[in-house]
Amino acid sequence: MTDVTVIGLGPMGATMAETFLKAGHDVTVWNRTASKAEPLVAKGAALAATPVGPSELLVVSQIGYQAMYDSFGELRLDGKVVVNLSSGTPEELRAAARWVAGRGGVLVTGGIMVPPPGIGQPGAYTFYSGPQEVVERHAETLKALSEVHYMGADEGLAMLYYQAQLLVFWSSLTSYMHAVALLGTAGVKPTTFMPYAQETFAGLGGDGPMGFAKILAEEFEAGVYPGDLNTLHMQAVGLGHAVHALADAGLETTVPGALKALFERADAEGRGQEGLGTVIESIRKP
Ligand code: NDP
Repeated sequence: MTDVTVIGLGPMGATMAETFLKAGHDVTVWNRTASKAEPLVAKGAALAATPVGPSELLVVSQIGYQAMYDSFGELRLDGKVVVNLSSGTPEELRAAARWVAGRGGVLVTGGIMVPPPGIGQPGAYTFYSGPQEVVERHAETLKALSEVHYMGADEGLAMLYYQAQLLVFWSSLTSYMHAVALLGTAGVKPTTFMPYAQETFAGLGGDGPMGFAKILAEEFEAGVYPGDLNTLHMQAVGLGHAVHALADAGLETTVPGALKALFERADAEGRGQEGLGTVIESIRKP
């Protein structure tokens, strides 16, 4: 089977190496702190002396792109395909592609959408970008980790999709924490509220009357935000009440307060009678 070198053995990289091993691949590993490779070597991985392992395919999972530069240093990458699944900015990823090319290799960028326990499990997927034929050539091996979702040639795309998903993840879960904290001031247990939160999370992503992910996507593409049933102005006022409630309960209000400021700006810009989706126009013009 195709072999692979995994560079970076944090929780993600170590699980990736283990998953490749379980799928029957020959796996070589490298980590700045070599001792982290020991459990994987015990399971059959080879330990490389340098990060440029013997395989064509080098899968990188480190804290960020600077770690890749620090790891490879002056080493050449002739004939190597570097698949970097670390976090960065789209611009960093594009610069990294030029850097790898300058050393004779090819960079494929990726954003993996699961935590370590999800790697190799059904439903796991990774956004990839870079040269399509290179991604396709290694897709069979990469499928051991997750589904391969190829997004396009621009190396920044994988990270744009990854960050888009994480913005939804972080902001909705932080609002969930504000919600739990607010109810907690009245003695409501988080697990008592949880079924209602589940209803909201599922509803927003669904096709029903609460299916705002779909409703707003259609509005954004049409560039019209009908406010006949619920205006932005009404929601800015309602959000103001919620921020007030948090403050009255002695809780911190940074995130909901920032949302309130954004809604109020869209309202002040004269779009208060449109729907919530009009807020995107204010996001596009800071
Ligand atoms: P970390 O983000 O903490 O990365 C740890 C790895 O980075 C270790 O191998 C560490 O080496 C290495 N590293 C850090 N700095 C350097 C450096 N200057 N030179 C060489 N190596 C360095 O761990 P994770 O495994 O959690 O995450 C890896 C990547 O995956 C991150 O970019 C993260 O954003 C992303 N990710 C994480 C998820 C998660 O749930 N954990 C989910 C999806 C993506 P050493 O052991 O020597 O310190």
